[in-house]
Amino acid sequence: MIATPADFSPLLEPREHPTPVTFAFRGDEILVAEGGFALSGEEACRANAIAPESTVPVGLLGGVYCRAVALPAGALAAPGYAFRTLRSYFGTADDGLLAVAFRGKQVAEWARTHRFCGACGGATQRMPGERAMTCATCGHAAYPRVSPAMMVLVKRGADILLARHARGPRWSALAGFLEAGESLEDAIHREVREEVGLEVKDLRYFASQSWPFPHSLMVAFTAEFAGGQLRPDRIEVAEARWFAPGDALPELAPPQSVARALIEANLSR
Ligand SMILES: [Zn+2]
Repeated sequence: MIATPADFSPLLEPREHPTPVTFAFRGDEILVAEGGFALSGEEACRANAIAPESTVPVGLLGGVYCRAVALPAGALAAPGYAFRTLRSYFGTADDGLLAVAFRGKQVAEWARTHRFCGACGGATQRMPGERAMTCATCGHAAYPRVSPAMMVLVKRGADILLARHARGPRWSALAGFLEAGESLEDAIHREVREEVGLEVKDLRYFASQSWPFPHSLMVAFTAEFAGGQLRPDRIEVAEARWFAPGDALPELAPPQSVARALIEANLSR
């Protein structure tokens, strides 16, 4: 599961480093040197016309300074470099480095989209000592957005409930974003009821994971079946069914995700 590595520490101010790592994004794509991951050193940034002052400090990974920048939609890679989707590095790039890239993607996108105040339209500046942009005119402050989402694996004895989302081929636990004013528990009961028509009880926290598509915090739980008829809503959830121990499993969420860790930890073999 992709998680922040132990040798990472976040930074708010730039650091001098002979070969900084620069995570440069164009949407969900990252700019890489052919055959590598991310940009290493100042020359790679110069070649791609990335000014150091346009980057946002991310942190130190094993003592190496990491920074990030969100490039415009029309940005082009210099010869010898290419844009690749972040997802294409699942399982090939080091999970710790990917976790730092995930973090960089979120802070860079936040910096790109908060150059002006959402309240009065004035220009913003970075607030010293905080990961925040503040408005020079009205004082409004904007922090990187984190959108909490819940994930729940419903269990009935040794069986687990998996669902296929209407948008893709993979099967996973149920999941959904919180609405304003909801607790995680509220969201679990509502989403399970809406998506598959079931009631659940005995919610247990499993783990959480930051996910940068675009800025989710996925909080995973297990719950016990408490009643109802399985009835996928056919809008969010295309199919849902119980899997008993020994049943052949369909295509699951990627191994780097908290969804996969949640399913594997609860499979009775
Ligand atoms: Zn303002």
